[in-house]
Amino acid sequence: MEKRYNFRIYPNAAQEALIEKSLGCCRFVYNRYLAKRIEAYEKEHRLMGLNECGRDLTRLKRAEGYEWLSEADSNALLVALKELDRAYKAFFRRVKSGGAPGFPKFRSKRAKSSYTSRKQINRQNIEIEGGAIKLPKLGFVRCRVSRRPEGRILSATVMRTSSGKYFVSVCCADLRPTSLPKTGKAKGLHLGLAYILVDSEGERVENPRHFEKSEKKIARLARALSRKSKDGKNREKARIKLARAHERVANQRSDFLNKLTTKLVKECDVICVRDALPRSRRSARGRGARFAKLVSEAGLGGLMQRLRYKCEWYEKELILVDPLFPSARTCERCGFENDEVGKKSALREWDCPSCGARHERGVNAARNVLKEGLRTGGTAGRVGTRDASDSSGASRTPAESA
Ligand SMILES: [Zn+2]
Repeated sequence: MEKRYNFRIYPNAAQEALIEKSLGCCRFVYNRYLAKRIEAYEKEHRLMGLNECGRDLTRLKRAEGYEWLSEADSNALLVALKELDRAYKAFFRRVKSGGAPGFPKFRSKRAKSSYTSRKQINRQNIEIEGGAIKLPKLGFVRCRVSRRPEGRILSATVMRTSSGKYFVSVCCADLRPTSLPKTGKAKGLHLGLAYILVDSEGERVENPRHFEKSEKKIARLARALSRKSKDGKNREKARIKLARAHERVANQRSDFLNKLTTKLVKECDVICVRDALPRSRRSARGRGARFAKLVSEAGLGGLMQRLRYKCEWYEKELILVDPLFPSARTCERCGFENDEVGKKSALREWDCPSCGARHERGVNAARNVLKEGLRTGGTAGRVGTRDASDSSGASRTPAESA
């Protein structure tokens, strides 16, 4: 099992300059090979693979005028190439499955950026000691170690947020899951927007809508930024203020989702949930696109992601029910399918025309999901299988928030 630990780091001026150099080199490599791959396709109608990019990079580092590339952690440059390759593969996968393609983008200087260094075998190039972390090229950087990492360190990702704070995310392997006490309880969940979740026992959790509350403030800061003249010092200040406001919302959301999912895995041994939305709804335009935006703001993806890895860490079972399973319109008592409910998503309560039972939409759906999950045992997918071949330790491994 793998796990990530995130810590805030406080580099000194010299270290900060080195971090910026590595970030710049990785961004350069990413953007350069993205451009090269596009060119290879447009001019020669061929795909430039990861190995070809790697060979080209090795040549480039020795070429005149590019010596500065060697000032960055060389491993991090290779990871940047890998990330580009992954972005391409994800793009092809989406094209194939008919989703919104989302071609890989060039990386901007201002956005949140990161680079990843790998731990070398039998070498102490990445280690944590007291209140500091040792990183390649940087040496010991002051670090707020909120939790001592367990297991074997694989890699460390240094990040700079768009407001200019630095974090390190340490990826560790060979962790043994910590068992939480068994409760004998199974729950079905219905995820939604107004209520982020309703469970099969009738408990509802309202969506806190952090973004809505902070939206006014963010809009004000965005207006202030747009009024500032380009390249002015005040513009940079306004940009940082806006970035901080965005980060605060993201932190609140992440905090909320962490508490909610921890509570769920503590309470239940088995959690059944419908697996995401049908792709057709996610990639739709117009009304569907607005709906997708709401879903992403509600953080349903983040909720699912946390449920997945927490169930794995704490040895609980997450059963994914087929996304096309008609959980909302089926009467949980008699199994009658009420098309009226399927058509009207605003219908919160309904009476079953067949057996007369009165239903609350979310609770009824959650109970159906629970039944279906226990019946199928999760044919749509069971959690606990991760792609073990990918050991680059890149950002897909979940993080223990600091
Ligand atoms: Zn019924």
